[in-house]
Amino acid sequence: MNLIDGKAISKKILQETRAEVEALKARGHTPGLAVVLIGDDPASRSYVRSKDRTCSELGMFSQKFEMPSSTTQAELVALVQQLNQDSRIHGILVQSPPPAHIDEGAVIEAIDPRKDVDGFHPVNVAKVALGAPDAFVPCTPLGCQRLLLEAGIQTAGAHAVVLGRSMIVGKPMALLLMQKGPGGDATVTVAHSRTRDLAALCRSADILIAAIGKPEFVTADFVKEGAVVIDVGINRVLDPSAPNGSKLVGDVAFAAVAPKCKAITPVPGGVGPMTIAMLMANTVQACKRLTA
Ligand code: NDP
Repeated sequence: MNLIDGKAISKKILQETRAEVEALKARGHTPGLAVVLIGDDPASRSYVRSKDRTCSELGMFSQKFEMPSSTTQAELVALVQQLNQDSRIHGILVQSPPPAHIDEGAVIEAIDPRKDVDGFHPVNVAKVALGAPDAFVPCTPLGCQRLLLEAGIQTAGAHAVVLGRSMIVGKPMALLLMQKGPGGDATVTVAHSRTRDLAALCRSADILIAAIGKPEFVTADFVKEGAVVIDVGINRVLDPSAPNGSKLVGDVAFAAVAPKCKAITPVPGGVGPMTIAMLMANTVQACKRLTA
């Protein structure tokens, strides 16, 4: 079994991105990312902090907007519109999920698609489906594809099963894997909560991408001997032996599944660090395009 080390691969991507930031700065352009957080969800707060910190580490400009949960839809859209006009900002990210009274779709549509570094705007969703070279691809599936490429996994002709059909992970992941070219050309099946005989279907996968948000749901009977498993799940579960009483696990029962795999990502240290690295890479892309 080979461990696909997302931490090490993301470090390499961040180094490449840092070099691109320096080159842009030498031409008078500092890539800038605005991250907007509404409310005080602790997980969202910690994601926003690490995005902000990574920007600073790469020498990028970053602005963090922490808004109270009472923020109205109109106030949020006004902020997004202001950021659309701000020439220091090349990427805008509104941390998901916002409070229930906010229409997330409408906020995303207010973002200038050229600054939509999360790749959630309908224009970018369409561009990903079209395989357009200037699409912003959502960071998590983009990171998963990069992990497969960096680990030298053959996707062409492989049967890939994507477990989950969300707009953030499952759907764009399936589109990327079925596209023509490196990291694509797979035969893709998308599975979800209504799929029949899930374990048997997953067992037919050469590459299994698990993105369902259910701790250790994918057990050894879901996995064919010699398969490649990418575990997107991030689930906090109780662990009395841990200092803070909890730990993070993926959607895959790692200990039981790993011995069957040709390669597998761990949680933490797999897909998670790749998501931030791809966000930085997307922001640098946005800066390049907006200042070209
Ligand atoms: P969603 O809840 O939006 O989607 C989950 C998907 O899994 C749905 O399509 C759902 O099916 C399917 N599903 C749920 N239960 C089952 C089941 N029992 N059997 C089969 N399919 C099932 O989740 P996300 O896509 O946003 O996230 C998935 C996981 O990835 C989470 O653990 C999340 O924390 C993690 N994540 C990690 C990121 C990272 O950076 N590493 C980034 C984003 C997410 P249906 O559509 O039928 O309801």
